[in-house]
Amino acid sequence: MTLLSERMNGHWSELETQDGERRAARAWERLERLLETAWEHSAELRARMDRAGLTLSDIGSLDDWARIPVLRKKDLVTLQAGGPRLGGLLACEPGELARIYQSPGPILDPEGPGADYWGWTEAFHAAGFRRRDVVQMTFSYHLTPAGLMLEQPLREIGCAVIPAGPGNTDKQIELLTTLPVTGFVGMASYLRVIADKAVARGLDLRRDFRLQAAFVAAERLPEGLRRGLEADFGMLVRQGYGTAELGCVAYECPALGGMHLSSRCHVEICDPQTHRPLPPGETGEVVVTPFVDVYPLVRLATGDLSRLVAGACPCGRTAPRLAGILGRVDDTAKVKGQFVYPAQVAGVLAGFPAVAAWQVVVTNPGGRDRLALRLRLAGELDREALARAFQEAIKLRPELEIAGGAEDIEPGAPPLVDRRIFG
Ligand SMILES: [Zn+2]
Repeated sequence: MTLLSERMNGHWSELETQDGERRAARAWERLERLLETAWEHSAELRARMDRAGLTLSDIGSLDDWARIPVLRKKDLVTLQAGGPRLGGLLACEPGELARIYQSPGPILDPEGPGADYWGWTEAFHAAGFRRRDVVQMTFSYHLTPAGLMLEQPLREIGCAVIPAGPGNTDKQIELLTTLPVTGFVGMASYLRVIADKAVARGLDLRRDFRLQAAFVAAERLPEGLRRGLEADFGMLVRQGYGTAELGCVAYECPALGGMHLSSRCHVEICDPQTHRPLPPGETGEVVVTPFVDVYPLVRLATGDLSRLVAGACPCGRTAPRLAGILGRVDDTAKVKGQFVYPAQVAGVLAGFPAVAAWQVVVTNPGGRDRLALRLRLAGELDREALARAFQEAIKLRPELEIAGGAEDIEPGAPPLVDRRIFG
């Protein structure tokens, strides 16, 4: 069996350690080819470029790429309803595909032929999966792509897979403890459920289990949950970021500290309104173009917010890192020209333990933007210090309002409410 320390070494592909110049050259080469195919075969892309007055010859370099208007993820539902070739999104005949899934939306997710179609193999290798691992897959194999999509990299690496699917925790525990299962794929919160149930039944997570590597996805991973699982099982827990239509977008390495961008796609961090790329380090919308010809999703605007982490990673991978998903575009507002992200506000308020609950409310009385920060207090608050810290991070000075009584902040209330009236 592979030792835990050996699972942290090496890379799957030489693409992971390419220098920036080669990486950019390869990206452009792939994007140029993709654009030519999409221009020829995807009616959706052709119509989108027509509307912007663009032709193929207008996009001659990576710098021109951002001139192409984005495709919004939420528009896929309506677009796909337009005929058997998914409203012109598909660049091949449906029968040429390997699989067609449906994920919530509902959005259809075509899978083209090819061994590592969704591009997760480098991510699973970085997470510590190795040849001859026995891996329990707890994502669903039914209709949604998760199970089959995340099984591909395991087959590539040379692992045996138990297609357990979700649920039936007793059966999961039985398989995990009777077979030499060294890998787990699923949601971290579900692995916690399995662990707690096993302990309650008198099992020992190190003696009765052999887990060494887990790849988790599909939910936010709190650091406490990760550390707890790693300590309890004596294993590595790493996460990836991707979507049902895009496949792998980014993934964690042994060093942690962000998620390396996948070599399978081109990722831009863009201003959520103009969709122009932002300077490195700024928070914006994740816009992804996978290098996939059969279903060309050129500049898919995911609605997810992130930023790039600066500096080299000690693991040796050179791909830039995403700082995790910091929120959704739908939960943000542009106030006086500045984007206000709830995750950023949460970061500021974490330094003020007297704040028990908060909510940002944006209005525009008389046509002028006004940003109020509603607070429920559980102690003494230095209001001036809070206003200063807020202004430093978010570049806006909030008006503080104390909530309570009938005006209280309900549990589960949205962190940001935009009540502006335009026009
Ligand atoms: Zn790294």
